Amino acid sequence: RHDPQGGAHFLEDESTKIFARKVADHYSARSNQTLEEREASPIIHLKKLNNWIKSVLIQLYARRGDAVLDLACGKGGDLIKWDKAKIGYYVGIDIADGSIKDCRTRYNGDADHHQRRKKFTFPARLICGDCYEVRLDKVLADDAPFDICSCQFALHYSWSTEARARQALANVSALLRPGGIFIGTMPDANVIIKKLREAEGLTFGNSVYWVRFDEEFSDKKFKSSSPFGIKYTFHLEDAVDCPEWIVPFDLFKSLAEEYDFELVFAKNSHEFVHEYMKKPEFVELMRRLGALGDGNQDQSTLSADEWEAAYLYMSFVLRKRGQHDKS
Ligand code: SAM
Repeated sequence: RHDPQGGAHFLEDESTKIFARKVADHYSARSNQTLEEREASPIIHLKKLNNWIKSVLIQLYARRGDAVLDLACGKGGDLIKWDKAKIGYYVGIDIADGSIKDCRTRYNGDADHHQRRKKFTFPARLICGDCYEVRLDKVLADDAPFDICSCQFALHYSWSTEARARQALANVSALLRPGGIFIGTMPDANVIIKKLREAEGLTFGNSVYWVRFDEEFSDKKFKSSSPFGIKYTFHLEDAVDCPEWIVPFDLFKSLAEEYDFELVFAKNSHEFVHEYMKKPEFVELMRRLGALGDGNQDQSTLSADEWEAAYLYMSFVLRKRGQHDKS
């Protein structure tokens, strides 16, 4: 038998890396879809809804000329949204080299991509790397400070261990200017745990997604377990098939406070839709994206199963404490 302390530590470290690699390989392997493939996706309206949520967050918080840090930027699906906000500079980082390559192609306005368009007006730096493993302040010393940081559908990958969850927040905190904004969207732990407790076994879902918890969580209480490393497998039709980790929001909020963040708001996606669909400019944006018909849940567009999958997510806005140097 191995030394319980040294050995266990080694094992935990190794498995954390293996899982991070698994996540990276999963996203790297996902190739760009053609416009036809995208429109035929069973979750096309959910994708459009999520794009609307990200656009609203960006329109609410980005200002002309801002320096933007996009953590886990993926294939650069938000580049156009940032361009519309007339930002001044963009740095995107992602662990998946395949995604960063696609992001670079998209940024360079590659002709065969479905978002064929003119080149972007802002300069960009695209980097392949793990945002939760190491300090990023040295790598990005010449690019910082940033006015706004965005981490969309990815921060939960940092909650595999306390060290990674802290590194993620430490990185954002170190790179944002005082008064800078951190926006993100991630799974809503309250919803996921509630659904798990209502489920018969350790799995729940519908025609577009399923979530499966490991056997070790069969009591569904999580009392004795650490709040970090609560792993489940998430499958979203035509999108995700990955190990993911629960982010208990109250803990996330207090950990963020340790890194000088104050919470501006946190909202489940359903609440987010109801709130921002009261504003005509965002109703118009929703109409253009085509996720919901008239602002209410409309079966001719988003299906009931997609709407339920949307409920699994929440958005947050944090502000870095300190003097605002921009008005
Ligand atoms: N933010 C993009 C968007 O909204 O379109 C991509 C979201 S995708 C669901 C999740 C992304 O997180 C993937 O591109 C994946 O490679 C990235 N990711 C996961 N773990 C990461 C890590 N440790 N460091 C950097 N990126 C990571």
